[in-house]
Amino acid sequence: MSARVVPYYCPYCGEEDLRPYEADPDSDVEIRGGWHCADCTRVFAVKYHGMAAAQIIAPPPSTAGPGPE
Ligand SMILES: [Zn+2]
Repeated sequence: MSARVVPYYCPYCGEEDLRPYEADPDSDVEIRGGWHCADCTRVFAVKYHGMAAAQIIAPPPSTAGPGPE
């Protein structure tokens, strides 16, 4: 299993020119597994939070049928 999955699109501008980003060793910024978007120059990381079950959404109340008269 790969430790790093490649994002295909920048989540901010939607462009595809993404490259792995490693912060300058002298920088105060600590980014692990970061990506740099060459188009909008943003640096971001993708984080896995876990799995969740799909929400059950109740249908809207029906307006058809017998109503008060
Ligand atoms: Zn971008």
